[in-house]
Amino acid sequence: MTNKKPLSIALVAHDDMKPMMVEWAKRYKKILAKNKLVATGTTGGLLRKEIGFKIRRLKSGPLGGDAQLGAMICEGKLDALIFFTDPLSAQPHDVDVKSLTRLAIHYDTALAMNVRTADALVHLFK
Ligand code: PGA
Repeated sequence: MTNKKPLSIALVAHDDMKPMMVEWAKRYKKILAKNKLVATGTTGGLLRKEIGFKIRRLKSGPLGGDAQLGAMICEGKLDALIFFTDPLSAQPHDVDVKSLTRLAIHYDTALAMNVRTADALVHLFK
């Protein structure tokens, strides 16, 4: 048993990447559930439905959810961001996607943008 403080972890996936996010989160369900989970609206709804996660849902990404996560990063309220962006489709809210990744880099937030890197980050969440 560990008494480590729960981390604040955001989970976000673009539409074509959502099945991958669900599969990834299922794999680490127990570890993730020990932390404070937050997600953009649609991703969060799906993770709640498919996995039963207790997860805070923000606005949908294109409607401000990415911006809300950016604000959390600025305020020191986010420890890690798992962000499965779609490398093959243009996003209408590309400026928000860029802003979120830019802030995560600037504030040195743990950031995983594909499954292999997300796998490598999981040890931080235990
Ligand atoms: P969504 O947003 O989870 O509401 O689909 C994802 C995103 O940031 O594009």
